[in-house]
Amino acid sequence: MRRSVDHKEGRGKSAPLIRCAIYTRKSTEEGLDQEFNSLQAQRESAEAYVTSQKEAGWKLVPNRYDDGGFSGGNLDRPALRRLLDDVEARRVDCVLVYKVDRLSRSLLDFARLIDRFDQRSVTFVSVTQQFNTTSSLGRLTLNILLSFAQFEREIIGERTRDKMGAARRKGKWVGGTPVLGYDVDPAGGRLVVNEPEAQRVREIFRLFKTHRSLLKLVNQLEARRWTNKSWKSKSGVEHVGRPFTKPTLRNLLTNPIYGGKVEYRDTIYPGEHPAIISPALWETVNAEFGARQRKRSDAVRAKQNALLAGLLFCHSCNRPMIATYTAKRGRRFRYYVCQRARRNGWDSCPTKAVPAVLIEDSVVAQLGAALSSEETRRQLQVAEGDWQQFQQGDPAPLVGAVVENILYHGSTGAVTLTLGNRGGQP
Ligand SMILES: [Zn+2]
Repeated sequence: MRRSVDHKEGRGKSAPLIRCAIYTRKSTEEGLDQEFNSLQAQRESAEAYVTSQKEAGWKLVPNRYDDGGFSGGNLDRPALRRLLDDVEARRVDCVLVYKVDRLSRSLLDFARLIDRFDQRSVTFVSVTQQFNTTSSLGRLTLNILLSFAQFEREIIGERTRDKMGAARRKGKWVGGTPVLGYDVDPAGGRLVVNEPEAQRVREIFRLFKTHRSLLKLVNQLEARRWTNKSWKSKSGVEHVGRPFTKPTLRNLLTNPIYGGKVEYRDTIYPGEHPAIISPALWETVNAEFGARQRKRSDAVRAKQNALLAGLLFCHSCNRPMIATYTAKRGRRFRYYVCQRARRNGWDSCPTKAVPAVLIEDSVVAQLGAALSSEETRRQLQVAEGDWQQFQQGDPAPLVGAVVENILYHGSTGAVTLTLGNRGGQP
């Protein structure tokens, strides 16, 4: 209406008019148990949002864009097509959805749609996810959608490991190769001391304390014909103990199990089993060759190498997502895990974890697209050197300079990137 234009232009102080279109979608498979199943409910929620922004000049357009019975897996939807036509014709300034996945369930399609909106300076808002692509000078928000299905298998594997982790934190024996000095209780589930072997373990610790050399100790043990643990597996297979080598001896001497402890992810917990080495002797020996320090600095290095460390946050818990990894058959699987999920268990957080490669690649791709415009780089005060390095495959300096934070919402796969120049901040 003409009047509203007058209103907009007539008062210099007031915000410009923002014409808002609400898009709703519901597929046929999405049953009644869905949180917000009806198009009407989605619309009402978005209408309320527009009303709440009235002071900022937001106003609903008369057209409705409702796709009932359409999947979010492709863009072949009549109401969406009408909406895109209106975006092209500049009849819309802002598109609202109840949830990101209403617009699209495909990362690629989502990125394309956001791109088309951007080209027409159209803002995209997801009402329940506090998404807003409104850009102001020197700041830019990008939205990415990750598909959960691609890595669900890894997550399931991680959950199993986490259960074992919980048992370890309680000091339980969770299986594995028996070590010299202990047997697995035939009744199962716990370690019992094998006294003759325990005597040897104590002697080995004493010898190391005296000689302070793995090599000397290997030779001594060879002369005594002492070997590592011989044991029989449940299925009856004999494992004959081998002569000690430097690595196997180091493993023995650095194993917290002998001090009555268990180790899980660089943290040592009191074990259920009895110690066979006094904590003092164990500490003295371990201080000698710093194997643990080396191991810990490996973990620190893995964290420092993580591109998004310190920037990535769990949207649900408002807690940082910590870079970590698991090693499996010599291959390292890096991921970021929500601090809350890690501390309080997987059930405490809907986001849980995200594979590092998946999210890092998405962030780098989005950054590359967003900053390909010189104008955007100028607004964000991107250093030309950082941009060149980024293009040559080293994104770390650029990410460090312009990414303020990244919010990841695990249950929707939505990622929000806030960019701005962090200036002289460390
Ligand atoms: Zn979380």
